[in-house]
Order: sequence, then structure tokens, then C-alpha cells
Amino acid sequence: MRLSLLFSLFLCLLIVSCKDTTANDSSVQTSNTEHDTISTIDSSITEAVYIIDSLEQSLIDAGLVNVQDSIPEIFIDLRYSDTNNFMHKDVYGHLNRAYVQPDLIPDLRKSLLFLKEKNASLSLLIFDAVRPRSVQQIMWDVLDMPIHEKTKFVSNPKNGSVHNYGAALDITLCNSDGSPLDMGADYDDIRLIAYPKYEQAYLDSGMLNTEQIENRKLLRETMKAGGFHGIQTEWWHFNRYSRDICREKYQIVE
Ligand SMILES: [Zn+2]
Repeated sequence: MRLSLLFSLFLCLLIVSCKDTTANDSSVQTSNTEHDTISTIDSSITEAVYIIDSLEQSLIDAGLVNVQDSIPEIFIDLRYSDTNNFMHKDVYGHLNRAYVQPDLIPDLRKSLLFLKEKNASLSLLIFDAVRPRSVQQIMWDVLDMPIHEKTKFVSNPKNGSVHNYGAALDITLCNSDGSPLDMGADYDDIRLIAYPKYEQAYLDSGMLNTEQIENRKLLRETMKAGGFHGIQTEWWHFNRYSRDICREKYQIVE
């Protein structure tokens, strides 16, 4: 009787022990499976966000920096990485980040601070930054028109442009949601209405309104605060340095 009781007790303990082991194993197994699934999802998200193709790698290798790494408040909409441009062609592929020479970052930050002091709800939106000469060559070749017409859209890649050095920006003012302010002419509009030098004439004719002119002026003041200079034919284009100074300071990004 005592032996039988002892045997029963031993049997019970064995069953409980087996159950526990099974439960533990199963829990470990479940946990591993979940972990594996999470790892898979995480790595796929990481890959989706951080695709760096050969074009972007060549910019990094050339010593350029991603503007948003230093100034995340600035919005980016690379229009040549989409078909929403004068060529209706995507020439940047996966590239959707704006790269510039590293010494432009503090200057750009000065510009943004100036703008925020004027109006804290506004920010900057970059349409194009460094433009490798090979990409400019593609743009040049896509345009099927005489050279004097082509230069209205894109400068001759043979000469090198300040964009090729990573020291020019195509940029505008935007709201806190990244929507661009009205400048009276879209980015890359080659009509004279996009020329800063004709703004007064277009204001007088009523084709540009006061708000559009004020927006353009604020953009120029903002960029000037960081040492950037506009040009007479494109309201969106700003050089940090002249082409001659760029030749001394930098290498063309091919
Ligand atoms: Zn430009």
C-alpha cells in the first residue's frame, strides 16, 4: 500500500515535470518564432528606408552629406527623382535625399533660423541639390532641341555647373506640412514670369500678385542670410559660391 502510494506520487511528479518541460519548450519555440518574424519585418523596413544605390553611394564617396541628417526640419522633393519635371523623366532613380558639400550645412542652418525668426510656421523645401555631371548629361541628351533652347532648361554639362559641385540648391519656402508657397510660377518654369528680374513688370501687369512677390522676396532674404545668392532667371536657384570659387574649393561630382 505504501509502495503503491509512493509509485503513484512518483508518476504524478513525472507527468507534471513532463508537462512543464513541454510548456517551456513550446513557449521558447513560440518566442523564437515571433522574434524571427520581427527580425524579418525590421530588416525589410530598414532595407525599404535605407536603399543606397550606386548613384547615392557615389555622392557619399565624393564626401557629400545628406541635408536631412543634419537639418531634419528641411523638406525634400527631388523633382528629377520623379516624372514631375520638364523632361517627364525620372533621372535619379532611388535617390530621394538631397546631398551637398558639408560646409554648406551651417550656412543652410543659418538660412532656416532666419526664416523661423520671421515666421516659425514656415520651412524650406529642396527640389534639387548636388546634380552629378553624368545626370546632367542625361538631361542634356534627353532634350531634342537646338543648343540655345536646351540651355534654357539645363546648363551645358561640358562647362560644369555649381550644382555639379554640390554648392547650389533649387529651393523654395513651404508650410509646416511641406506644401510649397505660391511663387507665381512652378519650379523649372522657363517662362519669363519665373525670372526675378521681371517681377516688377509682372506685378504691374497683374500676372503676379503681391503675395507671390513677397514670397519670392522672403525666399531671397532667407537664402542670403546663409550666404546664398540667387540668379536673375530662376526664382528657385541659389548658389553658395561662384563657379570660379567652386573650381578652387571642390571637385566636380561626375
Ligand atoms: Zn538650379
